[in-house]
Amino acid sequence: MTPSPTCPYCGHPAELVTGEVIYPLRPDLANKRLWRCKPCGAHVGCHAGTTTPFGPLANASHREAKIQAHAAFDPLWRAGWMRRAEAYAWLAEQLGVEREACHVGMFSFDTCQRVVAVCRAYIAAKCRGDICLYGDDFDPVTAQPLGPRCSQPAAEVIFWMDGRFSPCCAEHGFTILTPETRLLVFSVQPLTEGGR
Ligand SMILES: [Zn+2]
Ligand SMILES: [Zn+2]
Repeated sequence: MTPSPTCPYCGHPAELVTGEVIYPLRPDLANKRLWRCKPCGAHVGCHAGTTTPFGPLANASHREAKIQAHAAFDPLWRAGWMRRAEAYAWLAEQLGVEREACHVGMFSFDTCQRVVAVCRAYIAAKCRGDICLYGDDFDPVTAQPLGPRCSQPAAEVIFWMDGRFSPCCAEHGFTILTPETRLLVFSVQPLTEGGR
């Protein structure tokens, strides 16, 4: 059995628990195994079928950073710009890490933030020259189309919490979203910045 990892925040030895303890509302995760620091609540999952942790125990803000890193990175292969394996190889190169170590679950808080920055810049570069998607896109709150079709050049990209992104023209960007819809925006990247 894997030796108990030490919590990087408070130095306590972690204990092995099941998903039932960490995710009481998720019966589908009940059999997952995780290492948890009881005093501070930091935790991390294990590689499937083992007690080997994915990486260091992570507190709430680090876990949120990992979620954001995935939300920024996954569109690279989901949008079809690269195959999944190519996207991981590209990310490893961007971060200067070995391909084998290039997994969001293993990344530090700072590395997660770098993932977000390089992936947003990549997507913004890819969206340069696109037209405004306003008419094709739907409001995540109402599920209704955001507005009439538009064919003006995109000026910014809205990144949604769910991992989607929308190139928008200067008229149809973040500024016209309702306050409710703005809560679902992960970030906005102008197309004149970042990228290559
Ligand atoms: Zn701890
Ligand atoms: Zn537009």
